[in-house]
Amino acid sequence: MSHSYHRQLVFTIKDRCRVCFTCVRECPVKAIKIINGQAEVINDRCIGCGNCVRVCSQGAKIALRSVDAVFDLLTSKSKIAACIAPSFPAEFTEITDYKVLVGMIRKLGFDYVTEVSFGADIVAREYEKMIKTNDFEGDISSDCPAIVYFIRHYHPDIVSYLAPIASPMVAMSRVMKKKHGEALKVVFIGPCFAKKAETNETDEVLTFRELREMFDKSNIRAENTDPSEFDPPHGGKGAIFPISRGLYYTANNHESIPEERVIIAEGQVNYKEAITEFEEGYIRKKHLMLLCCEGCIMGPGTSPGGKRFARSAAVGEYVNKKLQNINKESWERDIQEYCRIDLSQTFTPEDRRLAPPTNEDVQLALQSMGKFSPGDHLNCGACGYDTCVDHASAIVNGHAETEMCLPFTIEKLHDSINNLNVSNEKLAKAKAALQQSEKLAHMGQLSAGIAHELNNPLGVITMYSSILMDETPEGDPVREDLKLIVEQADRCKKIVSGLLNFARKNQVNLTETNVVKFMEHSLNSIIKPEKVTCTFTSNIADPIGFLDIDQMMQVVTNLEKNAIEAMRDGGSLNVSVEGDREEITFIVSDTGSGILKENMDKIFTPFFTTKEMGKGTGLGLALIYGIVKMHKGKIHVDSNADPAEGPTGTTFRISIPRGRN
Ligand code: ADP
Ligand code: MG
Repeated sequence: MSHSYHRQLVFTIKDRCRVCFTCVRECPVKAIKIINGQAEVINDRCIGCGNCVRVCSQGAKIALRSVDAVFDLLTSKSKIAACIAPSFPAEFTEITDYKVLVGMIRKLGFDYVTEVSFGADIVAREYEKMIKTNDFEGDISSDCPAIVYFIRHYHPDIVSYLAPIASPMVAMSRVMKKKHGEALKVVFIGPCFAKKAETNETDEVLTFRELREMFDKSNIRAENTDPSEFDPPHGGKGAIFPISRGLYYTANNHESIPEERVIIAEGQVNYKEAITEFEEGYIRKKHLMLLCCEGCIMGPGTSPGGKRFARSAAVGEYVNKKLQNINKESWERDIQEYCRIDLSQTFTPEDRRLAPPTNEDVQLALQSMGKFSPGDHLNCGACGYDTCVDHASAIVNGHAETEMCLPFTIEKLHDSINNLNVSNEKLAKAKAALQQSEKLAHMGQLSAGIAHELNNPLGVITMYSSILMDETPEGDPVREDLKLIVEQADRCKKIVSGLLNFARKNQVNLTETNVVKFMEHSLNSIIKPEKVTCTFTSNIADPIGFLDIDQMMQVVTNLEKNAIEAMRDGGSLNVSVEGDREEITFIVSDTGSGILKENMDKIFTPFFTTKEMGKGTGLGLALIYGIVKMHKGKIHVDSNADPAEGPTGTTFRISIPRGRN
């Protein structure tokens, strides 16, 4: 009898999966792959243990449902037998009389309701015979379908050690078909998922939870049900099969199996270890009694939250009562009758092991998670794999993703936050610059208007003052005054035309200039109050640069004037010029009042002034900004207006490219 290729037992509800990787961690064969952050069961690799369904707190894993199929079956004309697993007292603890449960199952429409424990009784005799033989080579119990799949897929070399004996469920199905004919349909009801894929000798497999669902849907309750007895053949001590050491005691009923020949291992850590030791030859001539769950009473088809020891006690009590009331003769008669049926079972290897990835590939995968040396391997298990190397191998096999590495993902997140902060800062700066150039554009329009209006009256002043000067004889003191008027009016004209040029975004007129002399000259052309001491320093090796002399003169003299105006009570004005091959920097520094922090971003705004009416126009720095930009230069301001934070004062640094060489 060969096993069918098993059906998909577990499905993922993608919307519910919150990618905690608990299912990956709990899957004994790593049959869960993560794609685009979603967990998916790889059916080929699944052994149907149901761990993932049990551990998923979000209900994102659901098992194959058979409720509808069983309802359909029950409406068909066939005779249908329910074979209930011996763990039922562990599940239905609220139903004190098992006969009520039998009645409820019958009420669903089953023609026969029997206990699989009779199947366990006859199977136990087969095990006993096998283990007792002198040439017993050792075996692995084959009653847990998840264990059978585990060995067929992942330890195919020891498949021949799987006991060639049918499981109690299959045995019971054969018994019932022998008794009621091959046309009988058999529905197994138990605590297990993997049973749904064990065999085609049963027609459907229901879990206890599904049975409860059917009761609910059919409105069948203990209160509205008459008690009823199981149909024969009745089980004996096989009823204790589902709890720890069950099979051993079942067999040991006959007190003939030496205890030291039996090794019991339950739960994924234990059974995996036991199988590995068996395969490696550390365990010989032993009967390995393996269960995937911690006893069938805790199987994934049982209701969640069950208490293991209370469940075990419930089964114990049931068996106790049962054995007190058992009709030994009729039980023996049944055993004799049915133990002659074929209870054999064959198993074929079906290797699903993955070829181990090359070390090179694993290293690459590790590096993609920022792990370059063994010191980087945290082996924290957050990804669901025991070690970073296991995780990397799964990545190579396409079953896992780098993002599953929590420390790596957190680090990446930190990086993106930092990058985001940097871009935010850049954005803020760009925004400020944009606002500034908008203001500048407004100022351009305004100053163009003013300049245009001033041009004509200035022309008149220049012309008439020149005529007057020419007409005034040399030595006349008025002539000096007139000369000053002509000079200043000329300067006004230049500024006005400069404004016009600026407004038209005109090019600068770069002239070769000795910037040291230029700077000294600027200091000489301003009026310095006595209370202000002035210093000039030059830190430039090559003083020659290219700049628009008139416009840059406006820049530095304006800075110097602002500095002096900020030092009402005296102070020192330090002017210097620095430079390298690329740039020339003019520095105007004062020990004045400083600029308030809240005004720092306003000072370049046209018409912003803190000076009293008539004193300031608020155009100086706006103009400076425009001129410096036209020179493709930069302005840097440092200021402190708070004496608590240190000496007050302001330093403006204007850097412009050295220009043509
Ligand atoms: P104005 O000098 O006509 O006020 P500016 O554009 O030259 O216009 O300067 C704008 C404002 O910037 C000034 O009113 C002043 O508040 C501030 N400011 C500029 N330079 C200095 C400085 N060196 N020390 C303190 N405040 C300054
Ligand atoms: Mg000014």
